[in-house]
Amino acid sequence: MLKIALPNKGRLSEEVRELFNDAGLEVRARGERALTASLGGEFEAIFVRAQDIPEFVADGAAHAGVTGWDLVNESGREVEPLMDLEFGKCRLVVAAREESGITSVDGVKEGMRVASCFPRLTQEFFSRRGQQVTVVPVSGAAEIAPHLGIADIVVDLTSTGSTLKMNGLHEVGTVLESSARLVACKRNGEEAVRKLDELKQALGSVLAARGKRYLMANVPRKVLAQVREVLPGLNGPTVVDIMNGGDFVAVHSVVSAKTIYRTINGLKALGCEGILVTRIERLMP
Ligand code: AMP
Repeated sequence: MLKIALPNKGRLSEEVRELFNDAGLEVRARGERALTASLGGEFEAIFVRAQDIPEFVADGAAHAGVTGWDLVNESGREVEPLMDLEFGKCRLVVAAREESGITSVDGVKEGMRVASCFPRLTQEFFSRRGQQVTVVPVSGAAEIAPHLGIADIVVDLTSTGSTLKMNGLHEVGTVLESSARLVACKRNGEEAVRKLDELKQALGSVLAARGKRYLMANVPRKVLAQVREVLPGLNGPTVVDIMNGGDFVAVHSVVSAKTIYRTINGLKALGCEGILVTRIERLMP
């Protein structure tokens, strides 16, 4: 049985569960507060704090885990990055008080105090730039530190920027771009590596499907060439005869969810009928 460490609470936990469920690895926990759960078949989930996951995975207590890339880097532990799961996107940024006059990282002066929940990444960032600062480690709410006078600037996570703004701070530089990652233990055996590769493909097929739609339409045969341009599809559209379809053929295609509105209008303008769009659960090109 392969152990997969998943966040037990917080921002990432819901989306991780949803992704595993969609990939057919339903999280079957015995109760709300269960510490482990079967993922069906070969995998077992262990629920721990997102910041402890790099440690668990590096130690081999779990064969793999899902956590934020920021936390993996802050831990300094060696793990094998397997895939970017594309949610939990955020940036670790340097932020200063609006009235500080600091507008870029270059404006951070020697000896300034920097509050952060990411002391290791903060220290590394300024050392690499040759800037001497004093890092003030905090375990949360770093954005309050400049107002309390315990720091001049902060290094904090942001996604929309609204929390920084609300606290009278503005961004002056980026330390790291982060999102949720599947990471594995570097000492996994052959069997575990093979099973994790299957897991990676299953999760990847769900992520690939999320941005796509399956489109079907009845197309006048004479406009097929133009329709092909509107519907590039995965390997070009599938064209099927319709029984008693007259001058129409059925066209099926995988299309981008982002441009579906434009695609439908393009098809309608070409005289297509019976347009049907559905979600795709899994996509393995
Ligand atoms: P939390 O659940 O707030 O402890 O955060 C866990 C992880 O969620 C962080 O370490 C980040 O990887 C990720 N995350 C995504 N967006 C944000 C955000 N706006 N602020 C903080 N963390 C975020």
